[in-house]
Amino acid sequence: MRLASRLAHVEESATLKVTRRAAELRAAGREILSFGAGEPDFDSPAVAVRAAQRALDDGFTRYTPASGIPELRRSLADRYAADHGAPWAAEQFLITVGGKAALFELAIALFEPGDEVIIPTPCWVSFPDQIRLAGAEPILVPTQAEGGFELKADPILEAISPRTRAILVNSPSNPTGGILPAAELEKLVRGAAAAGIYLISDETYEFFLYDDRSYASAAAWAKRFPETVVLVGSFSKTYAMTGWRVGYAAGPSEVIGGAARVQGHATSNPTSFAMVGALAALEGAAPQVAEMVGEFAARRDLLVAGLNELPGFRCDPPAGAFYTFPDISGLKSHGLESSLEVTEFFLEEASVAVVPGVAFGTDDHLRLSFACSRANIEQGLQAMRCALVRRIG
Ligand code: GLU
Repeated sequence: MRLASRLAHVEESATLKVTRRAAELRAAGREILSFGAGEPDFDSPAVAVRAAQRALDDGFTRYTPASGIPELRRSLADRYAADHGAPWAAEQFLITVGGKAALFELAIALFEPGDEVIIPTPCWVSFPDQIRLAGAEPILVPTQAEGGFELKADPILEAISPRTRAILVNSPSNPTGGILPAAELEKLVRGAAAAGIYLISDETYEFFLYDDRSYASAAAWAKRFPETVVLVGSFSKTYAMTGWRVGYAAGPSEVIGGAARVQGHATSNPTSFAMVGALAALEGAAPQVAEMVGEFAARRDLLVAGLNELPGFRCDPPAGAFYTFPDISGLKSHGLESSLEVTEFFLEEASVAVVPGVAFGTDDHLRLSFACSRANIEQGLQAMRCALVRRIG
């Protein structure tokens, strides 16, 4: 018996693995301070919870249209038209089982063996593996750490070959928090259109921006380049609704129709009452989002300051998302050679869970989420400091 060869180069998701290991250790009685998976610790908005409960009480528990409930597609179309002047009709939104499923279904619908997809790195763990599962090849283009991993269009556009089918960007970035400035986004959108390839923009962290930065959404370019701009979004992070599993894709009718066909054979509709909750969040939870982002800004400062006090660490404040991505290459001289070794060290010696940078494409970094309580951040920093002092002296 054997597994399909397409799995040969696909690992367990590193972010989910950290969560799993932390849960296992907790179940075994160990107290773990986790900076692992990016998952807001806030409650889901009360309006969403109430709407989903009402939907259940009303018996809204059967299949819905496979592409999602029309009300949610329409509301998203209204939101993107109002916020970004996007021309997308409700039918050009596909509601999916989280943003992850949107990206996967797009990959299956658009890419095949022989195709290349350009991804700036460090990048989210699932990007390259989803492309590989579709049989295509991820082309990884490194982003400079200097300047906070800000994304630049030129190196990405220079990587375009006759086999390139798409560029996949994520701003603010998981794991670096780096952003794609408006001028660079414009260059990318224009460059992709000129090359006849898709620009897929994963905007999962669009609301998580700090220091008064404003957001440049690819949706603003969809009117000018309706054939090539594709957007992916999620309710998970914005509304602290990770477990509900509701995300979406928007773009050219043909592309969304292709991904919808995949979804029709893969999951059918996302959970009926979860979509009702997502709709209520979209229409009524903006105040909670603002409150959460304000709190995350304070946590970011707390974590960045603390990390910079640890021996061997260097950490710039991230512009967005809710991850710090410190450089830990200074630990090499103390015998901690790789990000995996450092991750193991903190788990064993400090009961602290982090994600190794190597999972995102760089071995000189760690990822620590600050979507966790201030107490977790303070205790985690203290435990890491003690473990490092014991080791280094
Ligand atoms: N996207 C989050 C993270 O990177 C959740 C886990 C996952 O889906 O990868 O931590």
